[in-house]
Amino acid sequence: MIDVENLLTHEQAELLANKIRKTYWDENKFPVDPVTIGRALSIRIVDVQLPENVAGALLKKIGEDPVIMLHADDPVNRKRFTLAHELGHYIYRMERGHFDDQEIDHVDHRNQDSRKGSDVEEISANRFAASLLMPQDQVKLLCKSTVDVFELSKFFEVSTSAMKYRLNTLEIKCP
Ligand SMILES: [Zn+2]
Repeated sequence: MIDVENLLTHEQAELLANKIRKTYWDENKFPVDPVTIGRALSIRIVDVQLPENVAGALLKKIGEDPVIMLHADDPVNRKRFTLAHELGHYIYRMERGHFDDQEIDHVDHRNQDSRKGSDVEEISANRFAASLLMPQDQVKLLCKSTVDVFELSKFFEVSTSAMKYRLNTLEIKCP
């Protein structure tokens, strides 16, 4: 069951990601670096040996800065998306009035159903991540010239599957 009220719509995700990119990054500079954005939000980002079935985690203890853990062995592009996704979780909670006196203990498993699309917060985090790394306006702009999906994914430093998914969501056809 999807709790529509708390689900970030594509438009909301885009607006939120634009706001974050404008505030903590140069909105005209690509690829977007989620590490810089995370650090600007006082989030510690660490590469660690996580269990094979774990992609990433967002942890926060009371009175301490949040920590995002990434799987050390994952390819760079996957880590970038996972980090953007974890930032999405953090920002989603902050937007909903999560306070500093509340703990966060969130682990993202690979291939779990919730990541695919039944959990409101997971869908919202994915939408945020895609919007942060592949802003709609920039994708549309690039697709006006002859750029294929491989060049696009290189430009945004995302996997080709993430790029294809994004193009589908935006209903943009690229050559
Ligand atoms: Zn997640």
